[in-house]
Amino acid sequence: MMPAGLATSPAPADSVAGLPTADFFDFESMLNAREQAKLAELRVFLAREVAPFAGEWWNKAEFPAHILPKLAALELSAPAQRGYSNLFAGLVIAEMTRVDTSLATFFLVHHDLFVESLYGFGSEEQKARLLEDAASLRTTGAFALTEPGHGSDVAGGMETVARRVPGGAPDGGDSWVLNGAKRWIGNGTFCDYMLVWARDEADGGVRGFIVDATLPGVSRSRIENKIALRTVQNADIVFKDVQVAESDRFAGINSFEDTNELLRGSRIMVAWQGVGQQLAAFDVARQYAVERRQFGRPLAKFQLVQQQLVTMLGNAVASMGMMVRIAQLQDQGAADMPQVALAKSYVSARMRETVGMGRSLLGGNGIVTDYRMAKIFADAEAIYTYEGSFEINTLIVGRAVTGVSAIV
Ligand SMILES: Cc1cc2nc3c(=O)[nH]c(=O)nc-3n(C[C@H](O)[C@H](O)[C@H](O)COP(=O)(O)OP(=O)(O)OC[C@H]3O[C@@H](n4cnc5c(N)ncnc54)[C@H](O)[C@@H]3O)c2cc1C
Repeated sequence: MMPAGLATSPAPADSVAGLPTADFFDFESMLNAREQAKLAELRVFLAREVAPFAGEWWNKAEFPAHILPKLAALELSAPAQRGYSNLFAGLVIAEMTRVDTSLATFFLVHHDLFVESLYGFGSEEQKARLLEDAASLRTTGAFALTEPGHGSDVAGGMETVARRVPGGAPDGGDSWVLNGAKRWIGNGTFCDYMLVWARDEADGGVRGFIVDATLPGVSRSRIENKIALRTVQNADIVFKDVQVAESDRFAGINSFEDTNELLRGSRIMVAWQGVGQQLAAFDVARQYAVERRQFGRPLAKFQLVQQQLVTMLGNAVASMGMMVRIAQLQDQGAADMPQVALAKSYVSARMRETVGMGRSLLGGNGIVTDYRMAKIFADAEAIYTYEGSFEINTLIVGRAVTGVSAIV
């Protein structure tokens, strides 16, 4: 019988020896040898440093900052700069999610939103000043877009404002004053820097700023009592007359559309999280079905149980297949936002069905985090909502295929 605290078991992919893994179509074999070796290295790290403790971190809502040096040593940041494929980058997120969705969320907020923004929009001076420490996790970053009053409609409704002050900086250069509030900001309680999006009072255009989180006028408070991604530290952040130097503005951002490329990349990674969630749910449910006995036989002997396991596997494989094609399109520079939105909404929907089946297959044990499934089940809700909710991504596709927007 599965021990209470499955969290102490080996890597999920190896959880039932001799049976096929959840990557049933072996998409992983599409990686080159260097990438496969690095993924194996990641798995060892996750099995040793994360899997045994992830349940406790989640229950206590504690972020494991002490593992960051070992995570950084894997050198997984900025995969494209290191010569890795987009498929590899996606499978890294899926594999992290498979073991701990919260850790994967930390990683993608820091790397895919903060670090990639620096690569994409940072000036040479900003990159020289910030990238090395950020890429090696000596400093951490956050991405502050959502506001208390504006989530899905933040592009048009953003209330955080930036006012340019000519000659306002100590060196006589221009500075900016930020006022407003942000909500849900991942890593927000402890990050060193955050990318803050604000509307220029002068012309209404959206601008991006690199804000040192210790600046006067920045106050942050942790969002408590979450039922998903409890290990991730999400913050409410208030900016009151925060002075930011012109040298900390992203000069290349002049409208919300300029952020689209960035959001397309991070949305792909969140869709990969939806894959990882399904791999994890299948791993745990299959092991439970093989080991748990009712009516004198393993649950796996019942046809209805097999059908649910196969549905979960089919959902996971179909989701992976879609993401593999997205990765190919990325390699060609051709993954457009409606395609990415379809991937995110489709994978999210399959994920919700998959984790729901997994939770029910564990019966009562499916609602206690000792058996992992409850955590997987709950974490799915955050993925369903962030990086464009299921509904908003669906409507982005609807607009593309009909030529008519139903968003507003
Ligand atoms: C765990 C977590 C981490 C997050 N991390 C970050 C972060 O690091 N940085 C950041 O900036 N943000 C972050 N977010 C915010 C996230 O991006 C928003 O929650 C998301 O955009 C949805 O916004 P909202 O929660 O305000 O919901 P709302 O926009 O208020 O939506 C509520 C519901 O209404 C639906 N809805 C809204 N408009 C329409 C429409 N036109 N048609 C149909 N349905 C509609 C939505 O789909 C949803 O179901 C995070 C959120 C969560 C939960």
